[in-house]
Amino acid sequence: MQTSKSAIVIGGSLGGLLVANMLYRSGWDVHVYERVAEALEGRGAGIVTHPELMTALEMAGVAIDDTIGISVQERVTLNLDGSLERKQALPQILTAWGRLYSLLKAAFPEDRYHNGKQLVSFSQDEHAATVSFSDGTQASAALLVAADGVRSAVRSSLLPQAKPTYAGYIAWRGLVEEAALSPRTLKELFPYFAFGLPPQEQMIAYPVAGKNNSVKPGTRRFNFVWYRPAEASTTLKDMVTDSTGKVWADGIPPPLIRPSILAQARQAAHDVLAPQFAEVVEKTESLFFQPIFDLESQQLAFGRVALLGDAAFVARPHCGMGVTKAGGDAVALVRALSATSSVPDALQAYGQERRTVGEFIVGHARALGAYMQAQLLTEHERDMAERYRSTEAVMRETAVSPMAHAVLAP
Ligand SMILES: Cc1cc2nc3c(=O)[nH]c(=O)nc-3n(C[C@H](O)[C@H](O)[C@H](O)COP(=O)(O)OP(=O)(O)OC[C@H]3O[C@@H](n4cnc5c(N)ncnc54)[C@H](O)[C@@H]3O)c2cc1C
Repeated sequence: MQTSKSAIVIGGSLGGLLVANMLYRSGWDVHVYERVAEALEGRGAGIVTHPELMTALEMAGVAIDDTIGISVQERVTLNLDGSLERKQALPQILTAWGRLYSLLKAAFPEDRYHNGKQLVSFSQDEHAATVSFSDGTQASAALLVAADGVRSAVRSSLLPQAKPTYAGYIAWRGLVEEAALSPRTLKELFPYFAFGLPPQEQMIAYPVAGKNNSVKPGTRRFNFVWYRPAEASTTLKDMVTDSTGKVWADGIPPPLIRPSILAQARQAAHDVLAPQFAEVVEKTESLFFQPIFDLESQQLAFGRVALLGDAAFVARPHCGMGVTKAGGDAVALVRALSATSSVPDALQAYGQERRTVGEFIVGHARALGAYMQAQLLTEHERDMAERYRSTEAVMRETAVSPMAHAVLAP
């Protein structure tokens, strides 16, 4: 027999750990199942924080102090020749995927986190949801939370029509050691949330913690995301083709990116970016790219099953809201579950609230990114591309939560 407060969370990344920690602290008997057999690695990706994320982390049992990330006070945009185009104040704390993962993982009981467990199917009845794993084992609980990411197997089976849509551009990403940077780049770039804005492209870069999550000066790292248009059937297809000719349509694993593609990107950095940014790209050892996708789910609650985090909605990264949104989903879900003893009723309330939020964030990020698309297909996209092309608008709204001033229709 399942207790009425038992839960299975599929996916042990940030979304899964946020909700599992909150459920655990609300008295739920919760287990997390993650398909990757070993500890997860975040490739050191930088994460912009917002006040809503800090609230969610605290509810998940994470104590917030100065070691959570690096505090940056100002934003700068550099011209192609490396001179300063614009500077403005915008205090923000920048952390890293690995830092959040280690804090959330440490807050959750080890014996409730199961690696090497890939969901292959699930079912539900009026009492419980039952999950089957690829190793032949099963688990049942009153609640099933799908935090299994943009390619969610749970969502694919419940909402086959909700598919990630390629946005028309890719993001080159990487990290470089603070100690490897030249004195000029350390002075003019490293202390800032920095922008480079070549036509139809965007470079953003900011400091993050270094090895072993160290925030000590001299040991930190500099993180960048460089958006470039890539037409799907030509440029992107070539970029996601490995040296054996295999095409990785959903994104190529970084070690398989062809050396010629990496060399082109490093050359382009010198051609279109300020020298300080080009140096950062040049000195990045593990340069990789990701195609950018939009994903919207028309429904988040299905009886005893809830979609959460990237499994539910994926916004383009321009608001820096992915983890914050997953945290907000978790807060709303746990709050809804504490308001009623009926899991399906709670999930209905959760779904209504968070679908509106997810649609809003996806729409706003789509507008911010329109000017980088390889093709503008609609009048609205052309309008948005015009609106968010200016340095002022990009600096004001990128990596800033759009929720603070949002008025959302129920
Ligand atoms: C270029 C870029 C920049 C970004 N910048 C930011 C930023 O600055 N700030 C921010 O907040 N967000 C950012 N994001 C988004 C952020 O990384 C995600 O939104 C966030 O990690 C959501 O996590 P999630 O846990 O929902 O999904 P994921 O992190 O994708 O985790 C899903 C987990 O489920 C597991 N899984 C999948 N299928 C199964 C299965 N069948 N069985 C068991 N386990 C399974 C996977 O192995 C994985 O561990 C960025 C994203 C990109 C692409």
